[in-house]
Amino acid sequence: MPEGDSLHRAARRLQVLVGERVAVETPHPRASAERLAERLDGRRLESVEAVGKNLLLSFEGGLVLRSHLRMRGRWQVRARDSKAWVGSPWLVLRGPKHEAVLWNGPVLELTGRAVRRLGPDILADPPDFARMVENLRREHPSRELGDALLDQRLVAGIGNLWKAEALWRVRVSPWLRLGEASDEVLHGVLGEAARLMQASVVDGREERAIYRRAGRPCPRCGEPIHSRGQGDDNRTAYWCPRCQRGEEPRGA
Ligand SMILES: [Zn+2]
Repeated sequence: MPEGDSLHRAARRLQVLVGERVAVETPHPRASAERLAERLDGRRLESVEAVGKNLLLSFEGGLVLRSHLRMRGRWQVRARDSKAWVGSPWLVLRGPKHEAVLWNGPVLELTGRAVRRLGPDILADPPDFARMVENLRREHPSRELGDALLDQRLVAGIGNLWKAEALWRVRVSPWLRLGEASDEVLHGVLGEAARLMQASVVDGREERAIYRRAGRPCPRCGEPIHSRGQGDDNRTAYWCPRCQRGEEPRGA
């Protein structure tokens, strides 16, 4: 699934079109209903940036296209006049030399509003850790840390994989309540998430110790890794019950 770091890689590939006037097509029927092609066709693409889990494409005239990839969306950048594609991409941006093709892009809208509700980006340079901690502190103290880290209003860009890996590395359980987490613990896990994700942006490396490894031994202490759904969205949490500090869920 696309996480913050894969969006940053897509943003980087799309830079070849920045500064170019682009022809815009929306072959997918659901995308064409938004009339994006009519509104964007022929405009100059001014910038492409990843903000949290969104890719923001700014066009001349102040139009900003927000693309959220959800589970299956994918941007492909290739030479113009490559062979025809099979299927209906959501969006095609065609410059003089390159074209960018968006597949399975379920959220595409011209707006700036949704993005302003996002918390600070974990991949900003440097990340605003102080504001992230402030945001986490405003939540109810009984909220579980693993759930809060995925709340894009508080911290933008951390996905389920990096949440699990960062918590394991700093030895903190996803079930720890915010009220029981010191500022030092919050800074520790946010800093570790930023470090892991930054490394993944730079070289595509994914340092995985526990994500999707339920039942296998913890690489640190040998205890089998546990997994269980967490939060209103029931995202699967992975953790080592022996070396990650925090209250266990009842019945786990
Ligand atoms: Zn362990």
